[in-house]
Amino acid sequence: MTDKILAKNHLTREDLVYLLSATEEKEKQSLFRKANQVKKQHSGNVVYLRGLIELSNICRKDCLYCGIRKGNDNVERYTLKDEDVLDLAMYAWRKDFGSIVIQSGERTDKVFVDGLAGLIRTIREKTDGQLGITLSCGEQDYETYQEWFDAGAHRYLLRIETTSEELFRKIHPDNEFHRFEDRFLALENLKKAGFQAGTGVMIGLPGQTMENLADDLLFFKSFDVDMIGMGPYIPHPDAPMGKWKARLLKPAERVELSLKMIALARIMLKDVNIAASTALQALDPDGRVKAILAGANVFMPNMTPKIFADNYHLYEGKPAVRDNSMEIVRELEVRLKGLGETVGYGKWGDSKHFFKRSLRKIRPSLQYGWGEWR
Ligand code: SAM
Repeated sequence: MTDKILAKNHLTREDLVYLLSATEEKEKQSLFRKANQVKKQHSGNVVYLRGLIELSNICRKDCLYCGIRKGNDNVERYTLKDEDVLDLAMYAWRKDFGSIVIQSGERTDKVFVDGLAGLIRTIREKTDGQLGITLSCGEQDYETYQEWFDAGAHRYLLRIETTSEELFRKIHPDNEFHRFEDRFLALENLKKAGFQAGTGVMIGLPGQTMENLADDLLFFKSFDVDMIGMGPYIPHPDAPMGKWKARLLKPAERVELSLKMIALARIMLKDVNIAASTALQALDPDGRVKAILAGANVFMPNMTPKIFADNYHLYEGKPAVRDNSMEIVRELEVRLKGLGETVGYGKWGDSKHFFKRSLRKIRPSLQYGWGEWR
């Protein structure tokens, strides 16, 4: 049955639910093998790097799952100094990482917004425009996205978290900072501002069904995303959802479900960038390499200095940050050798899908020209 479904050009919601629920080893291996083939064909066998900088853990939001939520008083709040961020960016550039990703809690104040724009400009200048910059700084208004794009950032990741409105409401407080429709609007504004737009979901949330996850995949497709970053939900003891721990799938099951989601996203969307998330590694030491074999092509070594990274715990068991992120990359390279994958040193590794999408905008007649997914 699995092979029959995988041979189809178009996966239905029922097909997705079937594959997400597959338990037989043979079925799962067929799925991962197919995803790997699709990746090689459409994105190559290169894993691109994004040196991760956790800029600030100050957040105005109170998401019920997150360790750096505003209401968690056990967190020591920090914002990295500009010169520290610049040093990290220069390190990434010198070591040929090709790109960085700047992530932070959600702040919309002018000091933060303009400060980040200035920082992006400085990084671009000091690296001769050679270092790619991805942002992941939450929901902002259109003007802010435009300001950051114009300053020189070109990719943005904003997870929708779940496309089930019912589930979204369960995992967020009911107030103006956590509106389901605002999250969608923000994604649209990211595209409008010119970004390569990425989204994703948490996998294995309490109460989440296979149908919910199938709908998430169909949303990625219909929204025409350029990048995907998704991974397992992991409880945090200081977040309200931490006490729903007993309702969760086992860690190994959440890892497996995340790998299936990555594989299906690759099979359906073909030429997008897909990250091997850190949360996978928190539950399985080999989780990120497994993700690469299941269709992911982006790896984000954490570069945040340890004293700060220890206060950027979104969930329990975040992998320890090492002071030398180059070591992590070298280890990855060794692991990938023999698996038919290479590290894309010095490359931005942009989403191929983004360029096709942009071309379609200019020549609408092309929109039926890209493969069988219509
Ligand atoms: N504030 C930005 C935003 O909202 O997109 C970026 C930072 S936020 C901490 C990054 C992502 O961490 C969220 O989109 C969420 O999916 C993930 N995250 C937060 N808590 C998590 C948890 N307990 N388990 C797994 N992922 C989590």
